[in-house]
Amino acid sequence: MASHLLPTYSRVDLAFERGEGAWLIASNGDRYLDFTSGVAVNALGHAHPELVKALTEQAQKVWHVSNLYRIPEGERLADRLCEATFADTVFFQNSGAEAIECAIKLTRKYQSASGKPERFRIITFEGAFHGRTLAAIAATGNKKYLDGFGPAVEGFDQVPFNDLDAVKKTIGPATAGILIEPVMGEGGVRVVPNGFLRALRELCDKHGLLLIFDEIQTGFGRTGDLFAYMHTSVTPDVMTIAKALGGGFPVGACLATKDASKGMTAGTHGSTFGGNPLAMAVGNAVLDIMLKPGFMDHVRKMSLLMKQRLAEIKDRYGSVISEIRGEGLLLGLKAVVPAGELVDALRAEKMITVGAGDNVVRLLPPLIITEKEVGEAIDKIDRACAALAKTQRKQGAA
Ligand SMILES: *Cc1c(COP(=O)(O)O)cnc(C)c1O
Repeated sequence: MASHLLPTYSRVDLAFERGEGAWLIASNGDRYLDFTSGVAVNALGHAHPELVKALTEQAQKVWHVSNLYRIPEGERLADRLCEATFADTVFFQNSGAEAIECAIKLTRKYQSASGKPERFRIITFEGAFHGRTLAAIAATGNKKYLDGFGPAVEGFDQVPFNDLDAVKKTIGPATAGILIEPVMGEGGVRVVPNGFLRALRELCDKHGLLLIFDEIQTGFGRTGDLFAYMHTSVTPDVMTIAKALGGGFPVGACLATKDASKGMTAGTHGSTFGGNPLAMAVGNAVLDIMLKPGFMDHVRKMSLLMKQRLAEIKDRYGSVISEIRGEGLLLGLKAVVPAGELVDALRAEKMITVGAGDNVVRLLPPLIITEKEVGEAIDKIDRACAALAKTQRKQGAA
């Protein structure tokens, strides 16, 4: 596989030519059940007719205009996102990491505009993932991502996950905010306890800090609500979104309250491509579908079904899977075997999944998955586990 692509990914030797709903069709015609969804991106599956229509109709009108002019599709999407959430204002970007950058800048600027320019540090959590720009890898704090890239961007303090005392001890005169994913996706599908989020909210209120939720992976129905914060009792001041917002078209955004965004005046931030008409048209079409009555009920129903059937598999193959985690259709199989071996065994069954930290395999089906497809997924997982268990028995006998 000689390639001129920078080899920062160890890619599987498999290419997909076409997609239909929850299925990806490889160049050789093999059909794979997609339980990765481009890592929580294709929430409405592949080639959704309404998204195709929105994109192609907009493509025939105008693709790109500068943000120096009004972009009505973007104004409409921002109105609708604010209507649906706690937020008063939206800045559109092209990716998750850029949305994180915006959230960091906005938080620092908020403190500066509040007369506290010395406050610039943000508390983050071990096992987090916030993206791959220089500031985002510093916020993520993972040595693997930081190594060799020079001094980490200043201003991030990492504390252990779910350790309130550590957070309290870390808050100092330079602290500006706290950044957390309500469910840690890359970190191993770890659900942050509600009580911990509530305690963070109280600490932020007490100390004048902004609470930032990174909902780039959890957002847009993935956890069974439009956003994960909606089933916690906690409302953030700032929220980053991306992944499923465009259903596969690159787009991200930073949402904030009026007060939190008060420092972001004309000229303080910008993006050439952010909020372009194509992305905005698709984003509106995604919302059209997700805001329809019953959409989230379907996600919750499929989640419950998945969890029940996965629990049975775990009971049958305890030597392969030890725990089922997650919310909605952001599910994790904590593996006993190396997680990569389970991913490979599932791919041999024509089902694609993705690993995460903590030796977990993530299951991220499109939210439009049907009951029948859940059944097919369960059969594939069952067969993959059986194959791994059989190998274990052979190795044990040898
Ligand atoms: C994927 C992800 C990001 C980074 O998004 P990119 O679009 O890859 O830059 C940030 N935070 C979370 C929680 C993510 O899942």
